[in-house]
Amino acid sequence: MRAMVLERRGEPLKLVERPDPRPADGEVRIRVGACGVCRTDLHVIDGELPSPKLPLVPGHEIVGRIDMIGGRFDTLGIGRRVGVPWLARTCGHCRYCLDGRENLCDQPLFTGYTRDGGYATHVIADARYVFPLPDAGDDVAMAPLLCAGLIGWRSLQIAGEGRNIGFYGFGAAAHIIAQVACWQGREVFAFTRAGDVAAQAFARKLGARWAGSSDDAPPVELDCAIIYAPVGALVPAALRAVRKGGRVVCAGIHMSDLPSFPYDILWHEREIKSVANLTRRDGKEFFAIVPKAAIKTQTTPYPLTRANQALADLRSGRLQGAAVLVP
Ligand SMILES: [Zn+2]
Ligand SMILES: [Zn+2]
Repeated sequence: MRAMVLERRGEPLKLVERPDPRPADGEVRIRVGACGVCRTDLHVIDGELPSPKLPLVPGHEIVGRIDMIGGRFDTLGIGRRVGVPWLARTCGHCRYCLDGRENLCDQPLFTGYTRDGGYATHVIADARYVFPLPDAGDDVAMAPLLCAGLIGWRSLQIAGEGRNIGFYGFGAAAHIIAQVACWQGREVFAFTRAGDVAAQAFARKLGARWAGSSDDAPPVELDCAIIYAPVGALVPAALRAVRKGGRVVCAGIHMSDLPSFPYDILWHEREIKSVANLTRRDGKEFFAIVPKAAIKTQTTPYPLTRANQALADLRSGRLQGAAVLVP
């Protein structure tokens, strides 16, 4: 197999040849068809998340087909198309696993962080945590659904049912979840970096009622807002944009420090919540909605060996939609 490997934090990934991995009991081996590039990969590579496995194959938006199985599974056979998400394994017995919040498990494993991920030709996954995917459709188009879509879906659920919803940062997650929100009959307000008129036009094309800079006030009070950009200063901006009792959801795994802000903008029962990881139930719900909402992803494919370029383009904000690696 070939993989792009992180040997030390902060260094570029290196192309490495390894013997093909073999699945242990309860695992499957997947021939990777496509793997999305997520902002979390940058946080892992930059050392902003503690204790990654090293050396590490990053990548947790994997679409591919099973080409070897360890054990027998009812639903997963050779050739089956599956998706591998961020949540790689949970303990099954901590208080969070037992009460349906496995996303908060005390002893989890995460794909492309604490176990090897999909910047590779092959990946091993725990069969209980992969999502069966339909046969039709394109691997590249589906890859961003595995994190931008899934975590985006969880953040939308946590934002509640408000009709006027704001998205801060209009990248991979927002471009998917804006389509879900429009399909649900909500009004979408998109906030981008100041002057990013291309992203604002992209948001309007996907159904946003309004798009502007994150410094701007929206034309109406928002019921809720989701922050996808890893920028703490957006929290007070979003609090100022939501109505009394409104909710601000921080959807990223890492964010720069929140600046201090006057209590006044939180008062009146406004709330701030974070989103962590995903549950397998989120996946079931979300993949049922994908065809109903007719979600179309916008992707920029890169050959696997150009992973460092894809990461650099994501970092610079040059991308519209999602970068996807193709082995
Ligand atoms: Zn657990
Ligand atoms: Zn991700």
